[in-house]
Parts: sequence; structure tokens; C-alpha cells
Amino acid sequence: MDQLIFYKNTFINKEIAFILNIPYQYTDTLERNDPEKKLFVSEKKDQKKLEKMNYKASIDFYTIDNLYDYLEQFSRKYETHNRTEFYRDLESINMIPNYLLSLPEMLIKVLYSKPKDIECTILEREANIDIYGNVWGCCPTWISKSFGNVFYEDDFYNNYYARMVKLSSINKTFCFCNLNMCKYFERDYKKLSTKDIQLNSLEVPEQLTLSIDRTCNLRCNSCRREFYRPSEEEKQESLLISNILKEKGWLNKSCLLIGGQGEAFFSPTYLKILKDDEIFGKTIKIMSNGILFTKEMWNLLERKYKEIYVAISIDAASKETYLKLRHGNFDILMKNLEMLGELRKQGKIVSYQFNYVIQKDNIHEVLDFIHLAKRLHVDILQFTKLNDWSTTSKEEYNENSLLDGDCLSYELYTLLQDPLFQDEMVNIESFDTYMKNSNKKYKNGEANE
Ligand code: SF4
Ligand code: SF4
Repeated sequence: MDQLIFYKNTFINKEIAFILNIPYQYTDTLERNDPEKKLFVSEKKDQKKLEKMNYKASIDFYTIDNLYDYLEQFSRKYETHNRTEFYRDLESINMIPNYLLSLPEMLIKVLYSKPKDIECTILEREANIDIYGNVWGCCPTWISKSFGNVFYEDDFYNNYYARMVKLSSINKTFCFCNLNMCKYFERDYKKLSTKDIQLNSLEVPEQLTLSIDRTCNLRCNSCRREFYRPSEEEKQESLLISNILKEKGWLNKSCLLIGGQGEAFFSPTYLKILKDDEIFGKTIKIMSNGILFTKEMWNLLERKYKEIYVAISIDAASKETYLKLRHGNFDILMKNLEMLGELRKQGKIVSYQFNYVIQKDNIHEVLDFIHLAKRLHVDILQFTKLNDWSTTSKEEYNENSLLDGDCLSYELYTLLQDPLFQDEMVNIESFDTYMKNSNKKYKNGEANE
């Protein structure tokens, strides 16, 4: 990788130092958001002014333009869509989709966007790898700038792009996040002071989500129209990604989350990882549909991991509904869920979670599902709204989702008032904003549905 040479006593802002992964100096008076101090590296003509501010001026100064130019050159090597003349003000940069931003544009965006009062450190601690080998700091649908790609870069976790994205979490601008997708949807943000931010970056993510294979034994209506069977090339590609991660040591050093895409116990790639005796660690989190989660699979996990977290996506409390929504065998599922419930009771599973996407065809058995989860020693019962993955027409989605614009349908609104939703195991956070809007809409008996 190219090196940017900094001379001794160069004036440099600590956020830039973080992005470039170099030690920084004189950071106390060069702060953000002050027009005078926007120059994180002084122009030569400002030397005298800086001397008056008690800086021991050196003979070498970098200007912000030097750095933009350097980053521009660097991005040209890796990106095909560079603009010859790049934008330098936030307003014009905000009109460019995040995934098209060049490094200098990212730099401006991350330094000058408004901080938000969001308590989220996922970008600083986690990584999520998709089927193409892209490395993301969060769910790929929630963030629109990746850290890098395992096939194209040696350093796909701490390069300049990755550090810019991480900085957006450290300085709380979250400017590469799609906040209308994740749970921080439409919060009221207050202005924050980021004076004491800590600029650190991990060598290896604390948690690594593997979403590198879509192969699954089911075809749930909300996820796909047909069974997904990968081509030989796709199979090889996901195996290659897992080999790269294994060589890097990530599969042993990070807490593994398997099943972000595809089924943990059906995908050949995930099974290979689970069966590989050289891959082991302290913690594993399994997200599964449960159909293939047998005692044999449990033994495999128990042999290699001390802490095992289990999350099962179900969406039904009866055979008929399960068949209709997930096209799977409810009897087999129940047998495995009972076995896992017993393991949770014995304290062998750290946390047992059930997931349920509330929609038109399963709303009638939501309360039965809560009783089922209680009987099976479940710790977390996560209810979520139906997302639109374009598997149905827009009209069908609107009908199935039980959402009415920014509000809940009256049927769903009244259901969520049931005292069972107050149980501490139940999580309906994904409906928070809709609930707030619905309270306004339906208050004083306005609803006449
Ligand atoms: S998209 Fe949301 S959840 Fe993900 S890192 Fe950004 S703020 Fe956090
Ligand atoms: S089990 Fe999960 S990955 Fe498989 S089709 Fe259903 S939602 Fe998609």
C-alpha cells in the first residue's frame, strides 16, 4: 500500500491520524466544527498564526488539499467511478449515494456531518461478510459503505475506507448508515459533544457474522420465491471466503455468528466450518430455522465452543401456518425445539431466542406463540415487522405487512396492547416508531376499523 510520509512535527488532526493509522500530535486545539480549525493540517501561510498559538512550528506542513489529493489518487486505484473534479462541500456530497463516495468525499462527510445521539458501537466491534466477500461493519442492508473485500485487499478491516466507516461511529455521525432501516429509525436526535472520543480500532472484529452462503433447506415466503441452489462457482466462492477468513485467524479469534444468510446446518460451507476441528473458539451464535438442528449438530457445537447462543426463526405456532409461510415440517421442528429447550433448562445454552415476523397469515397465533416460548424456556422472543425483500408485489406486501404507512394497522396495534407483550422476554423494539405514530393516530378512539 502507498505510504503518505509525514515529517516530524506535522500538524495533524487526531481523526485524520486515526484514518491514516498514524500517531498524532497537537490535537488539543485543532478541533472539529470550528471554521478556523477546519484545517487539520496547517497551510504554510498559517505558520505564523500557529506559532502565536504556541505551536512549535516545523518546516513541513501539510494542507487539507494535500490529503484530499493523496486520497483521491489512492481511491482512483480502487474505484472505477471517480469524478475528475470531486466535490468538497457536504451539501453536494450528501447527494451522492454512499457506495459511490470516493475517499476524499468520505473524509468530508465523516468529519463534517452532524453527530447523533445513537448508542451503537457495532461498526467498531463487528464485521459481516456477504456472499461476494464484501466486509461490512453492520448488516449489509443497513450500511451502504463496506470496509473492503476479502478477494481484493490484504487488509479488509483496517484500511482507509474501513477506518472512515468506523470513525463515523466513533464520532457519532453514523453518516454511512441507513438509519431508516435499522432500529434507530427516525429518532429525535439531539446535538452531541464528541470532544472526548476515543479513537481505537480492533485488529480483528469481536463478532464476525458469516453471511457467505444463501443455501437453505426452506423457502420462506418473506425471503425467497424459490429454493436457492448455488452454482458450482458460487459454492467455490463461499468456500474460498471461509478459507481466507480461516487463514487470517478470524474464525478462531472472533465470536462467530453463523446463519445471517442461508441455513447453518444445510449450507455446505457452514457445515464445513462447523465440522473443521481446526476451527474452534469461545463463543458461537447460531441463527437457524431449526429443522436440521438435531442432537448430532448440538454435539458438534458443544465439542468446540464453551458459550453457545441459539436463535431460531419460526413465524408460526401451528402446522398449517408453518407450512403456509415456511413450507417446512412443524413436527420435526417442534422435536428439535423441545430438545433445545431442555438444553437451555440445563444451562448448556447461554441464550435461547425465538424470532417471529408478524404478518397477516400468522397474527392470529401470536399469543399462542408467546405461551409456547415460555414453555420451552426461551430467553428472548423477538417480534419484528415484515420487511419488503421484493418477493411479492408491492400491493401484496402492503396487505401482508399489517403496516399502514408509518403506522400499524389497527389489528396489529390492538394486539400489541395485550399484557403478554409486557413480559420481559418479549422484544417488540422494531415496532417502536410505528407504535409512537399509531398512538397519535388511534388515540381518543379515532380508529373505526
Ligand atoms: S446501521 Fe444502525 S445498527 Fe448498524 S451500525 Fe449503523 S446505527 Fe448501528
Ligand atoms: S429459513 Fe431463513 S434463509 Fe431459509 S428461506 Fe427461510 S428466511 Fe430465508
